This record gives sequence, C-alpha cells and structure tokens, in this order.
Amino acid sequence: MKDCIFCKIARREIPSEIIYEDDAHISFLDINPTTVGMTVVVTKEHYDSDFYNNDKEIIDAAINTAKNTAELLKKKLGCERVLTRIEGLEIDHLHIKLYPFYTNPRIPSKEELSILAEQIRS
Ligand SMILES: [Zn+2]
Repeated sequence: MKDCIFCKIARREIPSEIIYEDDAHISFLDINPTTVGMTVVVTKEHYDSDFYNNDKEIIDAAINTAKNTAELLKKKLGCERVLTRIEGLEIDHLHIKLYPFYTNPRIPSKEELSILAEQIRS
C-alpha cells in the first residue's frame, strides 16, 4: 500500500534498525521503545492489522517469524522472556510487537538504537 509506513519500512524507503529478516517479514527496533530491544515484526506485504482477519498461513508465518526474532532477542540481550502483543490498532498493517522483559527494566535512548541493533545483528 502506497502510503503505509510499515510498507515503506519493508521496502526500505524509510530507514529502520532491522535486526531480523526472512522472505516475507522484517523485524526492526521500535523508534519509541518502552524497553531495551522493543521490536516490531511486520509482513513485507500489506495485510490487515486485525490479525485474525488474515489467512491461517499468513498468521502462522508471522508467528514463526516473531518466535525466531524473540529467540534472537533472548540470546543477544539476555532478557528473561519476550512479551508479545498483537493489537494492530495504531497502524493498519499486520504487525506483532515484541517486548523483552528484564528484572531491571529501562528505556533506551534514541541514540542507543543503532548500537543495540548492531549488537543484536552481530
Ligand atoms: Zn502496509
């Protein structure tokens, strides 16, 4: 979809800190994180953000990518677990939000995002 911000991020028309990618999805660090490593998983194609309106194959693939991304976050950031939220209210494009959970949580600065992305990708 032409004016959709997540489509633009997926087409790399808008820069983002991509930490994981597969054929049909990208996972990138949220630019307004509420915890270190907060990540948005989006489909490369534009699908309904009302998650369960989508075909089972689309849902399964998105969940699989969210799992792969969560495992990467756990491994690289050492968080206890990764909380998952699928509400789709803000941007009308299928997405899953991942929130690494820590015993001592903190909110990272915007300047930290590229350093953090590099740490996760490496
Ligand atoms: Zn879109």
